[in-house]
Amino acid sequence: MTQPDNDKSQQFLDEHEELAPGQGFQFACHSGVPCFGACCSALNLMLTPYDALRLRRSTGQTSRDFVHEYADMTAVPGVGLPLLHLHMQDTLDKRCPFSRNNACSVYENRPSACRTYPLGRATRPGPEGVLEQLFVLREAHCKGFEQASQWNTATWMTDQGLGAYNAANDRFMTLAADLRQFEQETGRHMDARQAGMSGLALYQPDDFQRFLVGSHLMDRLEMTEARREDVLHDEEACLDFGFDWLELSIMGHTDHLQPKA
Ligand code: SF4
Ligand code: SF4
Repeated sequence: MTQPDNDKSQQFLDEHEELAPGQGFQFACHSGVPCFGACCSALNLMLTPYDALRLRRSTGQTSRDFVHEYADMTAVPGVGLPLLHLHMQDTLDKRCPFSRNNACSVYENRPSACRTYPLGRATRPGPEGVLEQLFVLREAHCKGFEQASQWNTATWMTDQGLGAYNAANDRFMTLAADLRQFEQETGRHMDARQAGMSGLALYQPDDFQRFLVGSHLMDRLEMTEARREDVLHDEEACLDFGFDWLELSIMGHTDHLQPKA
């Protein structure tokens, strides 16, 4: 199981079969396939903010405990926006920490890359929204392609519950692209404190909610009273606010960014 990022989308274009919107493919994954669970090892698995939010719902941990136990904080290449990387276990086969007896113990909240597989999804900003490309990731060990079930790109996305994941991941990609463009145009970039605030807004919604209670940050966006309540009590609404706030900060109030040394 591999995961494309936007910087590698051209490489995916070259190496994998691209599917047109709605194009069909044959695949099934279930406990009866001979390779069941084989793909949950030695993964380079990035966790988007929404991936982390959902996974943490399964572990029941605070965001700090979750990151400490399961992830490394890295950054989107060339941008500095925080990005989590899931630790594989320190075993010979480097199993995913959520793999139990070859099954996924966090299936309801598994990350977007696990849901999307055997497809890969590459996205980039377009003139009228996010442009999406989907690829078939045919890996020799995966026997799912020998199963009879027929899908197309749309039915697969729906079956795997990817709607909320793709929507949130598209916001994250757009934020990274906006920040990259801003840095190219102005030569200014986030400093460590601002990267830390981005990490708080994107990966620590529980802490961010506590922070918001004692700050005037929400006053910087026009919001209904109902949305304010949601932001303070619903982590998905809080993440959505975090995207809005960071986009406003990056595109609207550039004084939070420091000149490059
Ligand atoms: S069929 Fe493919 S996705 Fe399913 S367990 Fe086997 S290798 Fe993994
Ligand atoms: S989260 Fe679940 S599906 Fe994804 S790699 Fe881990 S065990 Fe496999």
